Amino acid sequence: MKQLGINPGDVKHIVMTHLHFDHAGGLVDFPWTQVHLHKKELDAKNKPKTWLERFAYDQADFTHHPNWVIYELCTEKWFEFDAIPLPFEPKMYLIPLFGHTSGHCGVAIQDGLG
Ligand SMILES: [Zn+2]
Repeated sequence: MKQLGINPGDVKHIVMTHLHFDHAGGLVDFPWTQVHLHKKELDAKNKPKTWLERFAYDQADFTHHPNWVIYELCTEKWFEFDAIPLPFEPKMYLIPLFGHTSGHCGVAIQDGLG
């Protein structure tokens, strides 16, 4: 990030599709950020029920106690999908797509083109 001229301290929000170690492993490098995700995902991380969940959620990724911002209710539609609007710009949505994990979500981002 520094090589690209981006100050890591300017990162305010991280939006998680899910918390498997290959996605959450870098959270520890941004302890000041708000980490946005679906409640079912945090619940699955906190109480893994299967051997795969116990393997795929590395609790070491969360020892810095991330500043979770949790969502559960879909209050809007994004095309035909139930969607959870996120409270910052650019306009973004969590789109529940449970399956890969209990709380897996897609992320839709308004790109300003349409
Ligand atoms: Zn995964």
